[in-house]
Amino acid sequence: MKVLVVGGAGYIGSHTVLKLKEKNIDTVVVDNLSKGHRKAVLTDNFEKVDILDKKRLEKIFEKYKFDGVIHFAAHCLVGESIKNPKLYFEENLNGLLNILDCMLKFKVDNIIFSSSCAVYGNPQFIPLTEEHPKDPINPYGETKFFGEKILKRYEEAYGIKFISLRYFNAAGADFEGRIGESHNPETHLIPLVIKSILDNNFQLTVFGNDYNTKDGSCIRDYIHVLDLAEAHILALNYLLDGGTSDCINLGTGKGFSVFEIIRELEKISGKKSKYKIGKRREGDPPILVADNKKAKEILGWKTENSGINSILESAFKWHTSPKF
Ligand code: UDP
Repeated sequence: MKVLVVGGAGYIGSHTVLKLKEKNIDTVVVDNLSKGHRKAVLTDNFEKVDILDKKRLEKIFEKYKFDGVIHFAAHCLVGESIKNPKLYFEENLNGLLNILDCMLKFKVDNIIFSSSCAVYGNPQFIPLTEEHPKDPINPYGETKFFGEKILKRYEEAYGIKFISLRYFNAAGADFEGRIGESHNPETHLIPLVIKSILDNNFQLTVFGNDYNTKDGSCIRDYIHVLDLAEAHILALNYLLDGGTSDCINLGTGKGFSVFEIIRELEKISGKKSKYKIGKRREGDPPILVADNKKAKEILGWKTENSGINSILESAFKWHTSPKF
């Protein structure tokens, strides 16, 4: 099997490339390195290509004969998407369309798509099943929702099969500390709580303590990045074995509040986090927790690395000694 990983230098992409390598699956990585890191790609088969550059993308498809594509490359920050929707609609959707065009031209029939629980919008019930109404409340979620619609139409018209994986909150790092989460600027909770513990000059802001939740802060379903990575390989194998297109949640089914994450990281580090309470962040639903039955049943997926300690300890290990 030969796999193209688009956006393989990013956080979830690089952990997936690591897993593919461990399984000796032939992999080519494409990334424009706008956000990702070359050092995060632990394989030699790397091509610095922007997916908006269709000519160069076509050259990659021409050079290799892929059995499937795993597509991670997208802008993925809720707040940024509200301030700059043009960037999100143009690049996330055109990027996907270019990849699909190449797949049509070079007869590649299977794609695994990075989607998000942001497609659901404000939850009407918890845990969120895949059937929950899709009503995204920010442009980032909308690009994922439209992406899924594009995939459905392309399957109907052209027969390209897809699995859209709706991630909840990706977290944690490789247990050996080789790769981990490194965004610039960093906006995600766990790295910022760790920063508020390790860096004397940094204070975390908790975005709202007046939500209708057990302690007033937002609740999220944190899923270990290596479990996410594994799901992509399971999903691709499922399609190659004759499975049908689908949209599948990837979460643990358990939620943790912002204050719980702070307390757990204080226990792990033995130090205090410096934080203040701020305003709610626009576009943040109060609770997001997955129903993950479908992933378990259809893909045989396990959340074996996603205990909260395993997530937070691996993240803490990475951030005390980041390699990039
Ligand atoms: N959060 C926070 N302070 C921060 C960053 C995040 O209180 O500096 C909260 C945020 O409101 C959300 C949760 O932490 O409820 C997870 O946010 P993150 O940005 O990590 O992921 P998202 O849920 O947006 O994908």
